[in-house]
Amino acid sequence: MSWNNASFQPRQENGAIEQLIKRLARLPGLGPRSARKAALALLQEPESRLRPLAQALEEAVRAVRACPQCGNLDTAVPCTICADPNRDRGVVCVVESVGDLWALERSGTYRGCYQVLGGVLSPLSGKGPEELHLSGLQARLEGGEVREVILALGATVDGATTRHWLQGRLAPYGVPVSRIGHGMPMGGTLDVLDDGTLAAALATRQTVEVQPGTNQPFEIKPPRPVPGGAGNPPT
Ligand SMILES: [Zn+2]
Repeated sequence: MSWNNASFQPRQENGAIEQLIKRLARLPGLGPRSARKAALALLQEPESRLRPLAQALEEAVRAVRACPQCGNLDTAVPCTICADPNRDRGVVCVVESVGDLWALERSGTYRGCYQVLGGVLSPLSGKGPEELHLSGLQARLEGGEVREVILALGATVDGATTRHWLQGRLAPYGVPVSRIGHGMPMGGTLDVLDDGTLAAALATRQTVEVQPGTNQPFEIKPPRPVPGGAGNPPT
């Protein structure tokens, strides 16, 4: 039997301690064991750890919102990036998550705006186009102010699927589309790259071919397969 604190399992099923551990264990990077350690560290120092964390969480719940234009998380609406007059509104970088946006901001070289998709298309987990956040990008494209769309998605199968789908949807707007990729390891996501590599990936982005005429403009619906192309007989 171990007397290690981290393996201690509180008995009460719905008690405050058990609830705290359960909530912590659901966070990315924390399993039950790490959650117990974290909970204990918080509970043993209520004034210096637990209460400040509770206050920071309360404040985040109260003040942080998703930007209606780009999907960034911020206390300002629209977010500080969208509202910044020094950002180039003609360049929109499409990223999977706010974590990827933060990574690009840390690299310190990008001065355009963003669209945070809130995920990528994933046939295996059933995530379809209707679940991607695209309305801000659509409004910007329809407003005619966009000169370039940069697809900065991870080098994963789902990232590639999403990029391909977006290329098709962007084609009718006639806006140059580019993608980053240089230096990105297979299976990698943006936020694992160091700042220099990410800046280089952005600087060496490549224009991608889009094929006008074969795709529909943005509509937040799943694309329908068209076997045999246009002119299918009605069934
Ligand atoms: Zn924004």
